[in-house]
Amino acid sequence: MLSQVVELIENKNNFGITTHIKPDGDGVGSSLGLCWLLRSLGKNAEVIVHGNVPQAYRSLPGAEDIRDIKSIDARYDAVFIIECSDLERPGISGLDNEFTVNIDHHATSAHFGTINWIDSTASAVGEMIYNLCKAIGGRITTEIAECVYMALVTDTGSFHFSNTSDRTLKVASELVKAGAKPAKISEAVYNNYPWSRIELMRQVLGTVKRDGTGKVASLRQTLAMKEQAGSVDGDNNGFVNVPLSARDVYAAVYMREVGPNKFRVSLRSKDDIDVAKIAESYGGGGHKNAAGLCIEGDWDEKEKELVARLVEAVDKASEKQSD
Ligand code: 5GP
Ligand code: MN
Repeated sequence: MLSQVVELIENKNNFGITTHIKPDGDGVGSSLGLCWLLRSLGKNAEVIVHGNVPQAYRSLPGAEDIRDIKSIDARYDAVFIIECSDLERPGISGLDNEFTVNIDHHATSAHFGTINWIDSTASAVGEMIYNLCKAIGGRITTEIAECVYMALVTDTGSFHFSNTSDRTLKVASELVKAGAKPAKISEAVYNNYPWSRIELMRQVLGTVKRDGTGKVASLRQTLAMKEQAGSVDGDNNGFVNVPLSARDVYAAVYMREVGPNKFRVSLRSKDDIDVAKIAESYGGGGHKNAAGLCIEGDWDEKEKELVARLVEAVDKASEKQSD
């Protein structure tokens, strides 16, 4: 919990910070925000990530110093693990021998850390880093503000997902006061894709369809589409949300081919429709309105099965509403 994290920081000096592979804005923003906070308290801290940092986050202060490593190669008093469901998610070996601090806002997170601070009411881990800064008596520097704002803006879909609370907006306001520039940060995320995104979008949106009820939509991405578009990681961000912009669509499933009969799946929903439960039943996880999983089998069959689960969840939520 938070008090243990504060005590640890006060008593130790050398910290590593990591997040999941293919990190999102919350993963990178929160990691860098925490790094700047620790440094402002006079501590040694660095961010270590396995693999590349997506282009959208490379303009954040400190991003150029993120070290790409495969296994722990330095001495730390503790390693913070941001936004990970388990110790394997960072893709860095040797973490099992470290004192680890699991910081997450996913209710589905396993308590794998030596210390675990999980707050599923936080819109993003970024919101938790802000709370940590306040709890430890730190000052929100411009660097912290920019990094944590990135975490908030990406994890709330620019403050329009249901995880956006009065607290989120209050924190965002404080971050802007401290020097974060909303237009600059949004520009880096939303108007900074390579053209391959547009090519891929054209093809993936070409597959969109609705089920018989008209309430559930599905999208597909083949390996060939990725290749043809020359796409890079992150190009398909947000595609799954497109069908939800239609009034009568309540849930969507987006299946990406990753190998023969192997798929990564994103589920999205509106209102009270819980897709995290569906994802969990396949060994995945996430939030009520945004979750993911991996699945194997015949594409048509598996899509049909997932669509049926979503229709069931939509019906269940509308029954509850009419009770
Ligand atoms: P996305 O569909 O964007 O990959 O993921 C949506 C949400 O579900 C994110 O919050 C992500 O962390 C979570 N998520 C996606 N895939 C998995 C998975 O395989 N396991 C778990 N535990 N969470 C996942
Ligand atoms: Mn997050």
